[in-house]
Amino acid sequence: MAGEPQADCLFCKIVAGEVPATIVRETDTTVAFRDINPQAPTHVLVIPKVHYPDAASLAAAEPHIIADILRESREVAAEDKVEDRGYRVVFNTGAGAGQTVFHAHLHVLGGRGLQWPPG
Ligand code: 5GP
Repeated sequence: MAGEPQADCLFCKIVAGEVPATIVRETDTTVAFRDINPQAPTHVLVIPKVHYPDAASLAAAEPHIIADILRESREVAAEDKVEDRGYRVVFNTGAGAGQTVFHAHLHVLGGRGLQWPPG
């Protein structure tokens, strides 16, 4: 069924507490944790607790959770005090865009200058 946990999904295991992660925030619908390979002083992933392979499929099925994720990204930026300098939120969507984990997730990057385009 859509949104159900997947046994072979790393981020579903983080949601379930089966794989450790440095969790910074949690709500009824989302978990935010530090990326294991940070690309900036703040690099947090905000994920839905439900399983969808990418942001596009999540947006199509449960768009209110996209809003929850974006609201949480703002809280992460505020707690890490990266708002003033600016920060970036990114949904890599599809392998061609660099997505490697196929459970929807929003990258929150900040704490250093960020170039555009990202490459
Ligand atoms: P993607 O490339 O799919 O947009 O982003 C996946 C992110 O998940 C990468 O930035 C990667 O470093 C991170 N990641 C992969 N495995 C783990 C893990 O086991 N724990 C944590 N905290 N992050 C992970």
